[in-house]
Amino acid sequence: LLTARGIRKSFGDNEVLRSIDLEVRRGEVVVLIGPSGSGKTTVLRSLNGLETPDGGTIAFTGGPELDFSAAVPKSGRFALRDRSAMVFQQHNLFPHMTVLQNVVEGPIRVQRVPKAQALAEASALLERVGLAEKRDAYPFELSGGQQQRVGIVRALALKPDLLLFDEPTSALDPELVGEVLSVIKELADEGWTMVVVTHELGFARQAADEVLFMDGGVVVERGAPGDIFTKPTEERTRRFLDRIL
Ligand code: ATP
Repeated sequence: LLTARGIRKSFGDNEVLRSIDLEVRRGEVVVLIGPSGSGKTTVLRSLNGLETPDGGTIAFTGGPELDFSAAVPKSGRFALRDRSAMVFQQHNLFPHMTVLQNVVEGPIRVQRVPKAQALAEASALLERVGLAEKRDAYPFELSGGQQQRVGIVRALALKPDLLLFDEPTSALDPELVGEVLSVIKELADEGWTMVVVTHELGFARQAADEVLFMDGGVVVERGAPGDIFTKPTEERTRRFLDRIL
């Protein structure tokens, strides 16, 4: 579905990504792990056009290959954005809109989906994550876990080819983490393609097809969760896992 090659990005003198390669097949769950500041968020933001890499290529199946070593027109980055939807650490819901309004905003305003259709699809999605009765509530009336589930529904409503999750549970109280991870796990089981940045290694172990360990702007090690977590080959991976397990 997606191939990224040699992605590089610096912020001033800070070289944040040094040639990242990433391949995501349809239906696959790729989990990015690694210490704070290793560049995980910047990878996600590059994949959906929120960040412009300094070099490398990104291509979605059926779309153009964008080569960032040359100037990529805005339309190229917008093309990336059309293929994926991001779920952020903080849900970023519009506070003055109801749950339902938050979910239909993108489909109606950006994708020009007819209002009745957008409302019907949004209601069905809210039902699926157990939030049907909250459709007319405002974000402040919801728990953090419910807010984040609305954030997920808002991404699903855009019908992206690829879902990107940026530490979707790290801002939640511990008792609310499970309900959000189980929604993501269900989506994975249904065949959604996703790239997930998370520190939840239990989730990674259960849901990931491939785990990438990043440190210092490079992918240090990648492989099936069963391999990475039980017999990492790199010392840096081992040290990271020892610290957080
Ligand atoms: P975390 O787990 O803390 O979110 P991360 O692995 O996702 O970390 P990034 O958020 O990608 O790492 O950040 C990598 C580095 O890039 C950090 O040193 C950060 O300070 C820097 N950085 C990220 N975005 C910007 C920006 N817009 N301007 C300047 N520096 C940035």
